[in-house]
Amino acid sequence: MKKDVKDYIRTIVDFPHEGIMFRDVTTLFSDPRGFRMAIDQLLHPYAGQPIDKVVGLEARGFILGGAIAHQLSVGFVPVRKKGKLPGTTISQDYNLEYGEAIVEIHDDALKPGERVLVVDDLLATGGTAEAGIKLLERLGAEIIGCAFVIDLPELGGRKKLEALGMDVYALCE
Ligand code: AMP
Repeated sequence: MKKDVKDYIRTIVDFPHEGIMFRDVTTLFSDPRGFRMAIDQLLHPYAGQPIDKVVGLEARGFILGGAIAHQLSVGFVPVRKKGKLPGTTISQDYNLEYGEAIVEIHDDALKPGERVLVVDDLLATGGTAEAGIKLLERLGAEIIGCAFVIDLPELGGRKKLEALGMDVYALCE
C-alpha cells in the first residue's frame, strides 16, 4: 500500500519531558520518498503563486524551507533563536509552556513588500510561528502562507494564526 507522509513520522513518548508525544520528523527526512513527498505536498497549494523568499523557523523549518526554496529557485531566510545570527537583528519574545523565548531575524533579510512563505515542521500552540510572523510584519513582508507538516489542532495554533489573517496549510494532523 502507498505510504502517506504521516506513515513516515515517528512518535517518541515522554520527550523532551513526561507527557509530551514528540512527533519526530527525522524519520520522514531520512527517507528519500518520504522527504520528497513532504516537499512536493508542501509546495502544492502555492503552485503558480509568486513567492520571493522562503522563511524557515529554527530548526526543522530550515531543512524543509531550504528544500522548498531550492525547488522554487528563491532565497531562504532563517528565523533563529536569540544570539545565533551574526548581523544586526530584530527580536520578538513569546511565551513557552514554562517561561519565555526570543526569536530573531536579520534586519536586512527582507525588503518591504516581499512575498514570503513561512515553513516549520509542526504547529502546536502557534507561539513560535506567531513570533516569526511578527518579525516578518515588522520588516514589511507580505506573508502568503504558513506551511507545516503537522498540525496539532487541539493546541489551537491554527486558530491563533488564522485570527492573525494567515493562510495555514498542514499535511496532516
Ligand atoms: P508552538 O510554538 O507551540 O506552536 O510549537 C511549535 C514548535 O515546537 C515547532 O518548532 C515544533 O518543532 C516544536 N514542537 C512543539 N510540540 C511538538 C511535538 N509534540 N513534537 C515535535 N515538535 C514539537
